[in-house]
Amino acid sequence: MAVPKQHQSHSRTAKRRAQHGIAAPTGGGCPECGAPRLAHRVCSSCGTYGGRAVISPAKLDQ
Ligand SMILES: [Zn+2]
Repeated sequence: MAVPKQHQSHSRTAKRRAQHGIAAPTGGGCPECGAPRLAHRVCSSCGTYGGRAVISPAKLDQ
């Protein structure tokens, strides 16, 4: 049986287990241009949201 060399604190165990429920951010690419985009956010590539242009891509370059 493996014997721990040093005691691991409850805090350190909890910090490790805090990562167990983490998943990758959801949301695929932009339906308009296919660029990676977070869900419920205006596309930073083409400036569309919900199928319509919200901001012009020229403004995004500034
Ligand atoms: Zn887009």
